[in-house]
Amino acid sequence: MAIDLGTANTLVVLKGKGVVLNEPSVVAVVDNKGKKSVLAVGDEAKTMLGRTPGNIQAIRPLRDGVIADFIVTEEMIKHFIKKVHKKTLANPRILICVPTGSTPVERKAIQDSALAAGARRVQLIEEPIAAAIGAGLPISEATGSMIVDIGGGTSEIAVMSLGGLVYSKSLRVAGDAMDTAIVNYMRKEYNLLIGDTTAEKIKKEMGTAIPTGTNTYPVKGRDLRSGTPKEVNITEEDTAEALNDILKEMVNAIKDALENTPPELSADLVDMGLTLTGGGALLKNIDKRFSKETGLPVHVADDPLSCVAVGTGKALDQEETFSTMLSEY
Ligand code: ADP
Ligand code: MG
Repeated sequence: MAIDLGTANTLVVLKGKGVVLNEPSVVAVVDNKGKKSVLAVGDEAKTMLGRTPGNIQAIRPLRDGVIADFIVTEEMIKHFIKKVHKKTLANPRILICVPTGSTPVERKAIQDSALAAGARRVQLIEEPIAAAIGAGLPISEATGSMIVDIGGGTSEIAVMSLGGLVYSKSLRVAGDAMDTAIVNYMRKEYNLLIGDTTAEKIKKEMGTAIPTGTNTYPVKGRDLRSGTPKEVNITEEDTAEALNDILKEMVNAIKDALENTPPELSADLVDMGLTLTGGGALLKNIDKRFSKETGLPVHVADDPLSCVAVGTGKALDQEETFSTMLSEY
């Protein structure tokens, strides 16, 4: 079994069966006079985000790429393993992909959670390496490969060669930050208060890194002055403006990575370019903008949302090829 434990979504791959589970990394916890218990996990819990009464909390335990809440994370991993595990797989070997920024304590905690959930053996793989394997990059070769994985809480920027990380950086600016930027923009430009879920919907349906379309898009929210519901129409010019600072920050981080890459590998990257994975890669025109501003060819991986999970699954299947890229604590 392979698990992509993402800040926004968790995917589980079973050997020979592909992706068998794909759910938000969200846990709803109910506080009953100080006694906390898990109410829902995954899809069911996500619908509760921003809509919970006082005693229920919908938590994203990995939100910033680090584990904010170990107990909730463990409950979530256990829940997902049990869900796909049923009775068919007794004590499986599990490969889990972890963000490069996670600390040894966090890695150990992730590993212990999986062991507690019934795994026989738990190995870890770095997220950008899994992304590169999933995207089919030649990471075992003496050639530079570059991955920019834009997830929910973090963007992982990495340069790899000979199966190892030459440079890696975990930026805490990714899909969630885009949502927040849209919330702030709507407040500033239109005096309209919207929630994160609405902002995410706007980003997916109307968001762009370079405005090209001329459609308008209706956004409902609360008027900040009158306090009553209001609807405004926005354009791609709006979303591009809202996302501008975030995209600039990402471009700067990519440029930093290029400056910190040994010259031989930089030369490879000029030809090979960089590959975008993670849900953020689906933002309209993000590839064009990154290419324009970094001077590199930019490719969007096939199915960027499942690239890491697919790569983790491949590493599990072809243990011999990828054994040097797996670790255990
Ligand atoms: P993680 O690996 O951190 O769990 P994912 O790779 O699953 O993250 O990506 C989730 C992020 O991708 C979310 O912020 C989501 O809003 C964003 N996303 C998904 N689809 C799109 C889209 N079409 N355009 C822009 N962002 C998107
Ligand atoms: Mg991810």
